[in-house]
Amino acid sequence: MRSTILTKELMDLVAQYESWSYEQRMVFLDLVDPQAEEPVKARPKRKAKGKSARAASLADAIKSSPKPREPICATCGNVEDYVDHSEPSPSYHPFEKSPTAQSAGA
Ligand SMILES: [Zn+2]
Repeated sequence: MRSTILTKELMDLVAQYESWSYEQRMVFLDLVDPQAEEPVKARPKRKAKGKSARAASLADAIKSSPKPREPICATCGNVEDYVDHSEPSPSYHPFEKSPTAQSAGA
């Protein structure tokens, strides 16, 4: 409170004030206690900075998912330990790294 002195006139004014509409009250307040103008229009929403929570969790899921580290055979698509890569397997063939596996694994 700016003052503790309250008179009948003020009480009447308050009663009158409370009978006004919102717009009238705002005009009255502007007259008796001017304030710095504030933009009435809603401000544009800020664009989310960085990754969204969903994108971040998706990225984490991709990171945590196990990737095949071992190079696979270009001929059969199996790892080097596969039985066909060692004799005396009937379908023996030399293990050969596939180009895609080489580029994927580092
Ligand atoms: Zn193979």
